[in-house]
Amino acid sequence: MHYMQVPSQVEYERATSVDHALSLLSRPDTRVVAGGHSLIPMMKLRLAQPEMLVDINGLAELAYIRLDGNQLRIGALARHADLLDSAVAGEHFPIFHDAERVVADPIVRLWGTVGGSLCQADPSEDLSAAFAAARATAVIRGQDGDRLVPVREFHRGPYETVIGRGELLAEVRVPVQPGTGSAYEKVARRVGDWSVAAAGAVLRLTGSRQNPVISSAGLGLTAVGAEHFVAAEAEAFLLGQTPGEESFARAGAIAAEHCHPVADQRGPEDYKRHLVAELTARALRRAAARAGTGASKSAGART
Ligand SMILES: Cc1cc2nc3c(=O)[nH]c(=O)nc-3n(C[C@H](O)[C@H](O)[C@H](O)COP(=O)(O)OP(=O)(O)OC[C@H]3O[C@@H](n4cnc5c(N)ncnc54)[C@H](O)[C@@H]3O)c2cc1C
Repeated sequence: MHYMQVPSQVEYERATSVDHALSLLSRPDTRVVAGGHSLIPMMKLRLAQPEMLVDINGLAELAYIRLDGNQLRIGALARHADLLDSAVAGEHFPIFHDAERVVADPIVRLWGTVGGSLCQADPSEDLSAAFAAARATAVIRGQDGDRLVPVREFHRGPYETVIGRGELLAEVRVPVQPGTGSAYEKVARRVGDWSVAAAGAVLRLTGSRQNPVISSAGLGLTAVGAEHFVAAEAEAFLLGQTPGEESFARAGAIAAEHCHPVADQRGPEDYKRHLVAELTARALRRAAARAGTGASKSAGART
């Protein structure tokens, strides 16, 4: 027997402007299509059955990555490949380059978007953890203007975000602070696969070079049931600590204790907890090496 996977009947409109997209999105059962790498497969499996798709691929005004004052601004339509190529993103947040190197494969990265990744709200999405670690803000646009939502409050749960009818994600803003280093560490079963577990760290060090102190810590986890992709207890522990093997190992242990992985085809629960402890410590080590040394482009970076 021959099976076909095809989406059910759907109307399609190509948005000609953000305002046009927003007015189309005010209709019921209407979804944005960006890269389509998650939505189209879900439609084929009938896990999503929108009545209308609004294609935003023509909206060049949503495709940018730039530094604006002390914020890195990433348009929702920036592709994974754009973020990986962005020198300004890599300079201030090597965590995004680390993460993008291990998101899917080059074909998916060429078309999949930053906005689509966050809005898909897959519990294994890499950028959700990276943006949570960086304490980014989502800019949600509606016909009445923009509202700003911390990325840490953006996901309501698996495959669900705070974006409402008539709205779209327009931009992600990341605060840039001096003395900050960041890194992302992921274990997958094979190249291009989703995470078994992954951890991202953004560390700010103050004090002297001889006596550095952790003055802010962001820790993101993916694929392990961390609430809002955040290792909050480990972050709280790190504040005021001396960066080093001891505090990083302790933070990893705390992160492992407080996440909620489930056993699945990617591995048993205790293995995932082990990975969280180890990957958190590794990400912290590399983030610290990159912090405040101007070496964010190279220290600890892999090629
Ligand atoms: C083979 C494969 C492997 C992958 N591996 C990984 C991986 O290892 N790690 C990882 O993190 N990701 C992985 N992905 C997912 C990848 O990151 C996709 O880019 C991402 O799922 C969705 O981006 P998209 O632009 O294709 O979104 P789409 O599929 O177009 O949309 C996804 C959802 O977001 C909504 N949406 C999109 N843009 C907006 C917007 N601006 N405003 C409001 N809603 C919006 C859509 O309506 C839809 O609900 C993989 C995907 C594939 C196909």
